[in-house]
Amino acid sequence: MKTTIKHVCGHVSTVQLYGSARDRAGKEKWLSGQPCLECKRNGQLAAAQAAVGGLGSLPELEGSEKQKAWALDIRATWLRRMAENAARYGDKAEMVREALIEAAASRLSAAWWIDNRHNLNAALAPAYEEALRRRGATE
Ligand SMILES: [Zn+2]
Repeated sequence: MKTTIKHVCGHVSTVQLYGSARDRAGKEKWLSGQPCLECKRNGQLAAAQAAVGGLGSLPELEGSEKQKAWALDIRATWLRRMAENAARYGDKAEMVREALIEAAASRLSAAWWIDNRHNLNAALAPAYEEALRRRGATE
């Protein structure tokens, strides 16, 4: 049965669902909780870029070798997770990802990343919002 799904990213797609009415309803509910295929693909692409290319272009951290290794891991994990989440912003996902990378690049102290590792969203929010504003985000 052809069914129109409204995804979390705000896009709509039409999919062919099979099975009993209950199976289809379950599938529909699950799909509507997911970003559309295109956003998913973009999200995965961005996450992969953040993991390799994007992170490669981030500045070196300052601190002892031990601190740097730990902080790099914290930074990479945070960025990867946030870049994946950015898929839900649909058209703005790319801008959100750039702002995230810029926010991450604004902190060079390994000790800072370690100290804030449990609270990175809040700690990086000002830099992130500033980066978004500079990109002309209206929200
Ligand atoms: Zn979408």
